Amino acid sequence: MSHPPRRTIVVDGLGLANELRAALADEIAELRAAGRRAPCLAVVLVGDDPASASYIKGKRRACERVGMGSVEHKLAAALSEAAVIERVEALNQDETVDGILVQLPLPKGMRPNRVAAAVDPAKDVDGLHPLNAGRLLLGEPCLTPCTPLGILKLLERFEIPLAGAHAVVIGRSAIVGKPVSLLLQQANATVTMCHSRTRGLAEFCRSADVLVAAAGVPRLVRGDWVKPGAAVIDVGVSEVDGELVGDVDTESVMGIAALVTPHRRGVGPLTITMLLHNTLAAYRARCGE
Ligand code: NAP
Repeated sequence: MSHPPRRTIVVDGLGLANELRAALADEIAELRAAGRRAPCLAVVLVGDDPASASYIKGKRRACERVGMGSVEHKLAAALSEAAVIERVEALNQDETVDGILVQLPLPKGMRPNRVAAAVDPAKDVDGLHPLNAGRLLLGEPCLTPCTPLGILKLLERFEIPLAGAHAVVIGRSAIVGKPVSLLLQQANATVTMCHSRTRGLAEFCRSADVLVAAAGVPRLVRGDWVKPGAAVIDVGVSEVDGELVGDVDTESVMGIAALVTPHRRGVGPLTITMLLHNTLAAYRARCGE
């Protein structure tokens, strides 16, 4: 069945992120004006993965720009998992640190779940501690993983109706797929979670009012998988021939989707913004606010 082409909004994720960051900067300026210290994020980087190094540089800059403190702990890949956990535990005890982020991926042999479980749940700004993951499942207040939180903010800002909508999420990781599915369900969407063993993925996608692609498979979603008028959120980032590409073939969804996030300056800037948001939330909660 053919449909008349429609105007597709290409989301300016950076613009939205800057707007949200300005509000965070104002909040932090008010704290400072009242004579209080700024919130502080500690980032632990294990090993020398260049992509991770570039991500943490972006995080440090984002902290600086909103007036938030940040400290980096760079550890050698040769360290043991126990030594990394020891560093995390020291940061748990550090009263000047409000948020702790252990940059993933960790070197081979280290168990990310074990390290995540060592972070004080009150400082767990990635939302990966079992206590926060459990609270999210139960619908209780918690520190929520940043990318899913950013996606919900974006959908809210563009007034995408979620109640009763069919949301299809491709990917079931603990950091993106599962938490975004839970948040969409909390917003009263009917959620289908897909993964690498899903049969008939294209058919599920074609019935989605909201489609979140978080598989890390370059250009997996093409225009003929998209329901006319759907909101398409491209989370995936892969490198193909030295170029970064998303999970969505953006060109082919133009004129079909109502909204699409580009793979650059789409969801990424919102992820970092939600990290700042979570750090400020952790600071306030630790101050008993
Ligand atoms: P992950 O842990 O590798 O999980 C990928 C998920 O996709 C898995 O559940 C996997 O299924 C599923 N999958 C893989 N191939 C598939 C296929 N052909 N069809 C359907 N499902 C498939 O990755 P992640 O950490 O969730 O990240 C996903 C992507 O988002 C990556 O590209 C990552 O770089 C990107 N990312 C971007 C941001 C951002 O801020 N822009 C933030 C986080 C992640 P199984 O469970 O069956 O293996």
